[in-house]
Amino acid sequence: MSNNTKKPEADYSFKHEEDRPAKRKCLNCSTNFTSEGWGNRLCQTCRSRSSSSMAA
Ligand SMILES: [Zn+2]
Repeated sequence: MSNNTKKPEADYSFKHEEDRPAKRKCLNCSTNFTSEGWGNRLCQTCRSRSSSSMAA
């Protein structure tokens, strides 16, 4: 049995650079907001707006 097991330092190591929380600009209104990760390019305001537009 080998005792030479290497532990990954962070889960982020295999993720894309942008696939993590970061500050970016909203694509819709250009407001600076904290993105949750990949695919999150809209601020909270625009996201709630687009999701509730169907109920309008
Ligand atoms: Zn926005």
